Amino acid sequence: MSKRILITGAAGFIGSHLCDRFWQEGFEVIGMDNLSTGSLENIEHLFGKDRFTFLHYDVTNFVHVPGELHYILHFASPASPVDYLRMPIQTLKVGALGTHKCLGLARAKGATILLASTSEVYGDPLEHPQKETYWGHVNPIGVRGVYDEAKRFMEAMAMAYHRTHGVSIRIVRIFNTYGPRMRLDDGRVLPNFIGQALRNEPLTVYGDGSQTRSFCYVDDLVEGIFRLLLYSDYPLPVNLGNPGEVSILDFAREILALLPESRSTIVFKPLPEDDPKVRRPDISLARELLGWEPRIPREEGLKRSIAYFRAKLQPA
Ligand code: UDP
Repeated sequence: MSKRILITGAAGFIGSHLCDRFWQEGFEVIGMDNLSTGSLENIEHLFGKDRFTFLHYDVTNFVHVPGELHYILHFASPASPVDYLRMPIQTLKVGALGTHKCLGLARAKGATILLASTSEVYGDPLEHPQKETYWGHVNPIGVRGVYDEAKRFMEAMAMAYHRTHGVSIRIVRIFNTYGPRMRLDDGRVLPNFIGQALRNEPLTVYGDGSQTRSFCYVDDLVEGIFRLLLYSDYPLPVNLGNPGEVSILDFAREILALLPESRSTIVFKPLPEDDPKVRRPDISLARELLGWEPRIPREEGLKRSIAYFRAKLQPA
């Protein structure tokens, strides 16, 4: 018999890749999404297949899944700054109420639950690179606080269910991840830059572009999540991301170098409020626990992403 797994945020960028991976591994996948930021296009290839069902549902309400359930992946949430600034209350609700519902379901079913946390729990970090032991530097009432605090609450709630009810939990702190199925208009730096370069519009670097990020290709992330869920029983947070750090200005130049036919230039725009100045994961823990590290170099991941966005902009 296949193991049954519920994936919230199934129609989103990372959620849809997780649906694919667990389906390919022989799991019975139940995808759930309210489609507030996700898109059915991301999972339409799974419709009509055996071992896949989709529930159009908002996980902040009481969740009922009939029958056995072995695993839950809670990935529902707006995840780009533009989205969570547009939907601040929904972002807080899905991180808080949605997490509570998923933990209650995990407890009732005796399921193992993995929760999608984020490098945003470290805020604008004073420690660099960020280890799991760092408590973070978050502005709780700033505009980004809705996401950061929702995810911090998620971690606290998961630990409380683990300590109080013995629920089997995993917490992954996901650093910037990219690849096919990101929304072109989600406002994040990679779809913005690639979309702008393909349309010959200027690339909008916020601030002076000296702020750094570390970008992980989605297949590497999915492999890390798969291992964390199935190859470990470690309940505390684990960073997953690519330690290759780059300034946003250099990132813009890298993308332009991969698109020599583009006539785009670079323009500078104001830096958004509370934008972290640096971000790079320390992945020693994931290496040790899971034998995991990212494999796909940024140039290769960028080429695959460009191919995806090009097809989106110029359908055959
Ligand atoms: N950024 C940028 N131009 C854009 C979009 C984003 O310079 O068109 C910057 C943003 O200010 C941040 C970094 O790129 O410093 C990454 O932003 P993103 O929205 O992708 O995610 P974050 O890592 O901030 O959550």
